[in-house]
Amino acid sequence: MGCPFLKETRTRNCRAMPARRGIVCEATAAATDKCLTAAHATCPVLAERNVSPSPTGRCPLLDETLVQYCAAAQTPKYIPFSQSQITRCGSSAHRYCEMYLSLARPSLDRPDAVANIDGIDLPERLSYTPNHLWLDVEEDGMCHIGVDGLLASVLAQVDRVHFITVRGTCRPSAVISAHGVDWPVTFPKTVLLERPNLYLRADPGRLLRDCYRTGWLFEGWELPADNGRDAGLMRGARAAAWMRAEVQRLNERVHRLAGTRHAGVFALAGDGGSLAPGFASALSRDEILEVLHEFFSPQRGWMHE
Ligand code: SF4
Repeated sequence: MGCPFLKETRTRNCRAMPARRGIVCEATAAATDKCLTAAHATCPVLAERNVSPSPTGRCPLLDETLVQYCAAAQTPKYIPFSQSQITRCGSSAHRYCEMYLSLARPSLDRPDAVANIDGIDLPERLSYTPNHLWLDVEEDGMCHIGVDGLLASVLAQVDRVHFITVRGTCRPSAVISAHGVDWPVTFPKTVLLERPNLYLRADPGRLLRDCYRTGWLFEGWELPADNGRDAGLMRGARAAAWMRAEVQRLNERVHRLAGTRHAGVFALAGDGGSLAPGFASALSRDEILEVLHEFFSPQRGWMHE
């Protein structure tokens, strides 16, 4: 299903013009337009080029193209119909478009099914890697990758996102700088990477604030050769059970860390049970690295292959 803001129209070009610039066809113009009626015979360009007028009534130098454009954009850019099929506008991937999300507010109309596992959101349509990244694959193979709710909850704030891979066949990788630590995140499967989310350079906070939508990290295409190799990807009930175990294990890990330090240093909930979002800010640099290595290391994904 394509984006509701994606519209179709026709543009016209005169082949005799040195700079081809598509002019949008008005539906009502056909009857009076000189290029589309017998009046084209009087056009001086035809005589200049020694081209005979057409008996069909339509100028032989006229080209018409079916194009699509974004009705939400202030200055629409017309692209040939065939190309829109390979952009996110023509597929369900439009749900990651900045403009679509800000104008359509889809979460209010058709909320995605989201499980909540001990305070961590887990959208059910996504697949998850053991190192806490998510993957969303469309019917046509276009995919998006981001960090999951647990990593977002642990860090809660991020200073910078640096993209290591930006294009080509690779395991998409980035470095997240947060709480004085530079942490590499690598998707364990090879994909054909189309582009990283460059908006994160200007506003890295959305990586965690809106980790399942505008905070996506990479856009690309799933490789057919990788079908069947899931690199430990989990979905549905399996993902929910795994996340429950991860949250519990993380709680226990941080309580063990807390046991080695003064009471009250950690931002734990009042009942002593669950971790408060952003608890990483209460850890030392070495402790953050220990937790990140144990739960979010790229090796956790590769070990499943
Ligand atoms: S640019 Fe965004 S809002 Fe516009 S048609 Fe494409 S997906 Fe929709």
